[in-house]
Amino acid sequence: MADNKPIEELSVLWISEGMSCDGDTVSMTAAGNPSIEDVVLGLIPGIPKVNLHNKVLAYETGDRYLVPFRKAAKGELGQPFVLVIEGSIPNENINGDGYWTSFGNDLETGEPITLNEWIDMLAPKAFAVVAVGTCATYGGIHAMAGNPTGSMGLADYLGWDFRSTAGLPIVNVPGCPIQPENFMETFVWLLQQAAGKAPMIPLDEKLRPTWLFGKTVHEGCDRAGYYEQGDFAVDYNSPRCQVKVGCWGPVVNCNVPKRGWMHGIGGCPNVGGICIGCTMPGFPDKFMPFMDQPPGAAFSSKLVAVYGQVVRALRGVTNHTMDEEPKWHHNGPALTTGYDPRFVPGGSRGNGARTSTASRTSAGSNQPAHRKEQSR
Ligand code: SF4
Ligand code: SF4
Repeated sequence: MADNKPIEELSVLWISEGMSCDGDTVSMTAAGNPSIEDVVLGLIPGIPKVNLHNKVLAYETGDRYLVPFRKAAKGELGQPFVLVIEGSIPNENINGDGYWTSFGNDLETGEPITLNEWIDMLAPKAFAVVAVGTCATYGGIHAMAGNPTGSMGLADYLGWDFRSTAGLPIVNVPGCPIQPENFMETFVWLLQQAAGKAPMIPLDEKLRPTWLFGKTVHEGCDRAGYYEQGDFAVDYNSPRCQVKVGCWGPVVNCNVPKRGWMHGIGGCPNVGGICIGCTMPGFPDKFMPFMDQPPGAAFSSKLVAVYGQVVRALRGVTNHTMDEEPKWHHNGPALTTGYDPRFVPGGSRGNGARTSTASRTSAGSNQPAHRKEQSR
């Protein structure tokens, strides 16, 4: 927002014509807090009116669908826009005689317009640029070693120091696919920023929102208690920690186990899936082969196993003790609770009652009994 004027209406130009499966769009539709419907219908107070252009959710098709994109490319849209890129960006410098991905045709030449050309035209004019999903953020599966397309993430394409017209860096929301509310929260922050009601969105050095990606999977995992006690699963049919069967959770930034997937339910390790690091810039190559024990996990789990087995044994004893009711809970003829009548004002122990009242009062106030007596 170069002139810092609050924006009252904006468009979202969402392009999933990168190397993409459209899974992030599909995932986003599952968000409930807030939902995309809430945003588009203007049910969230304090944000601009939003005109969403996403092909999976659009009524228009073909050239009619492309109208706002063409207008924005010419600077004729008439309102600010957020550019959302889904899918990784192939290297069109090495496309031979063809092209890797395209989105509509040039109206004059009839030639396909590549994704890269759209990014070149739209990104410099956008209020904000968002890369959604791990393919768009860091290249993802299409950018694996041995790929023929030279695919990369949006920041690799535009440059990590890119700034939008509002002075914003690219905003990366990784995930394969994105966790629905992770995207919606980020989106609503940007909308509130456009309305002049939120400070600059906080991003880490990989351009991820810090409040979403600041902790590891392991720190939010339901199974972390098993890890800490050195109690490890040896197959996938177990509620125990899965680090020995391929979980990378201790070294992966992702909030999914804490947040769940849809409406708080799910979250990979919570429901039996190992974490394969799908939110990370090193995904997938650095986490393969999937389902093998991560190299560092062999060492760390051995260390934890020694400490964990001792602690688990001790906790077992304490747990057994705490699992019993106190012995004075009985229906016998005698009271065995340790009840002392001195602690009842006017109790049956003669002048003990007065003394004990003073003692009780002093105990409650932390004052010596004789000082309490003086103050009467
Ligand atoms: S299953 Fe994975 S994330 Fe969960 S406690 Fe074990 S290593 Fe950590
Ligand atoms: S827990 Fe791991 S595999 Fe699951 S979404 Fe997060 S990073 Fe991806």
